[in-house]
Amino acid sequence: MLNKKSVDDINVKGLRTLVRCDFNVPLQEGKITDENRLVAALPTIKKLIADGGKVILCSHLGKPKGEPKPELSLAPVAKRLSELLNQEVKFAADSEVVGPNAKAAVEAMKDGEVILLENTRYRAEETKNGEAFSKDLATLADVFVNDAFGTAHRAHCSNVGVTQYVKTAVVGYLMQKEIDFLGNAVNNPVRPFVAILGGSKVSSKISVINNLLDKVDTLIIGGGMAYTFMKAKGEEVGKSLVEADYLDYAKEMMDKAKAKGVKMLIPVDSVVAKEFSNDVSFRTVEEGEMGADEMGLDIGPKTQALYADAVKSAKTVVWNGPMGVFEMSNYAAGTIAVAKALAEIDATTIIGGGDSAAAVNILGFGDKMTHISTGGGASLEFLEGKELPGVVAANDK
Ligand code: AMP
Repeated sequence: MLNKKSVDDINVKGLRTLVRCDFNVPLQEGKITDENRLVAALPTIKKLIADGGKVILCSHLGKPKGEPKPELSLAPVAKRLSELLNQEVKFAADSEVVGPNAKAAVEAMKDGEVILLENTRYRAEETKNGEAFSKDLATLADVFVNDAFGTAHRAHCSNVGVTQYVKTAVVGYLMQKEIDFLGNAVNNPVRPFVAILGGSKVSSKISVINNLLDKVDTLIIGGGMAYTFMKAKGEEVGKSLVEADYLDYAKEMMDKAKAKGVKMLIPVDSVVAKEFSNDVSFRTVEEGEMGADEMGLDIGPKTQALYADAVKSAKTVVWNGPMGVFEMSNYAAGTIAVAKALAEIDATTIIGGGDSAAAVNILGFGDKMTHISTGGGASLEFLEGKELPGVVAANDK
């Protein structure tokens, strides 16, 4: 059980409080095109303002590769945050991030004021967890708050290194929620516990499959990765995405499921086409019916029903990866059906980040899920059962 100190466990009144946020927003010609990440950061920031902290925000943005790149400056974020918070967020425009502007601004801060530092990845040491930048950041802070789950699987200066030089390091509300759901609910689930895995490749989810098989009652496989399992069972899968190097692994996982008494479900029908395209004819086939010149691009209606039925009595469900090529309308039905099934059940429903999170949101089921993770890579590593450096670095309760 991960039990980390959070912003609710400390008193930041009058303290310089450095908050690592995830302000890695998409920008087009200096305009923020999706501000979800800014909105998501507000509860922690507002709480620290209300408690009278001196709130110093920091984040990375894109990949400036260790040097100042004006198009990746966080200046537009400071402007938009000022509007969202209804109070000034002063921007400290230092190319070295912790420079004269930042130092002077922090020095002059009054309780409840907010400043934002420049893109932490302007410094080359950031992604190497270097000592100098970690120390620089720590000189600005009495307390450190990590609310950036998206980078929690990386050990960088602004989320891990800095914690070595401040007395108090806690997590913010966003991070706490990820720990509660992806960490604790998955490791200590209310049963029955069902995991649904999809997406393109088995190879990218080997450790997730292996780890979840030790925890779940039912494991459901869909998406491109299903065809490696189907082929391993001896089925004809035509030109479907198959990773030949992973056929033995797929067999091993099916054997493991059997040995552990875990119900493992793979598709019983597929929507197939002769090309990876939305502009060609498509049809539904059952086992043994796929032509050598066809490829499976979505689960079929019987599989949709089978999977919906398998989650009906679940009390905890975790889902990572689409059931088909949902970006193309002809092959989106399987992913929609699973999203709908999860929206209708009385269970804790946890959506891993990345494509499945995007799919659930685009399809309009976002508010029906208990938790949608904000981190793609980080949520996968959590599901692999790994310790995330950004989480480990926070103080235990
Ligand atoms: P991942 O990044 O591994 O989670 O995979 C997500 C991608 O898998 C999406 O872009 C889907 O289009 C793709 N995908 C899902 N089902 C299939 C399939 N049957 N064949 C090929 N690609 C698929």
